[in-house]
Amino acid sequence: MKIGFIGLGNMGGPMAANLVAAGHEVTGFDVAGVTVEGAASAGSAAEAARGAEVVITMLPNGEILRRVADEIIPAMTEGAVFLDCSTVDVDSARAVGEQARAAGLSALDAPVSGGVGGAQAGTLTFMVGGDEAGFTAAKPLFDIMGQKAVHCGPSGNGQAAKICNNMILGVTMIATCEAFALADKLGLSREAMFDVVSTSSGSSWSMNTYCPAPGVGPKSPADNDYIPGFAAELMLKDLGLAQQAAGAADADTPMGARAHELYRTFVEDEGGKGRDFSAMLPRFETRGRG
Ligand code: NAD
Repeated sequence: MKIGFIGLGNMGGPMAANLVAAGHEVTGFDVAGVTVEGAASAGSAAEAARGAEVVITMLPNGEILRRVADEIIPAMTEGAVFLDCSTVDVDSARAVGEQARAAGLSALDAPVSGGVGGAQAGTLTFMVGGDEAGFTAAKPLFDIMGQKAVHCGPSGNGQAAKICNNMILGVTMIATCEAFALADKLGLSREAMFDVVSTSSGSSWSMNTYCPAPGVGPKSPADNDYIPGFAAELMLKDLGLAQQAAGAADADTPMGARAHELYRTFVEDEGGKGRDFSAMLPRFETRGRG
């Protein structure tokens, strides 16, 4: 398949490399001049998009996505698929979807979970919004870049699923970290805490799979000095998008709002930038109630 790939950063680079390795004809573009071995390099986003059956974007935010969409939609072939895998606000995803459909394209918003490791290994999960025909056309590419693709409904629903999932993740990670810090102060060993909670009603992915306490549970960034993994600033971004969507939809999300606030403070004022999002545990360890 002829594929245009725009945004070849930490995620987009390895995703594009996996498409090349599977035998697809990939033309890439990134403003930073990054290239991918085996892929052709275009001089602009429009050039990467021209003549492609599928154009994939993997960009930092909704504002940049809207700008790139303005540039590539007129260059794309009618009937082609515009597949955005970035994490962006629901409104931008829906606006770009609408603009693409009006130009006779199929549009999908397909944010991912699985991080850089999943992008490299081709084991991402895609949460997909958009039309059925586009989903069917893109399915072989999801199968190369990932292990699972869930069609969540019309345009924007992929982003909705992603931010709801990550809002739960942010809240449960904070709850797990504060509970470990409380358990420490109550004299409970971390091993006992993990053994009980991971098999009890307090269990969650944050506890069982990505335990924030070093030396306990399966290997996680906590065992590697909290090197990400999933960086705290990316969690902050996703919690911000969740709050933006909650505001627009008039949804009451007090736990999501508090998690957003805590991660903002952690990233901006407490040295959390560049650390894994589970480094909330050492943050709580050092604090009292005051
Ligand atoms: P990144 O910053 O490494 O990559 C983004 C790339 O886009 C950069 O190389 C940048 O030069 C390029 N870019 C910016 N503006 C451009 C433009 N106008 N035209 C072409 N290229 C442009 O970020 P990343 O970690 O690869 O994340 C990409 C997206 O994936 C984000 O939306 C992020 O939230 C999401 N995401 C990241 C992770 C993760 O663990 N890194 C996990 C899930 C989702």
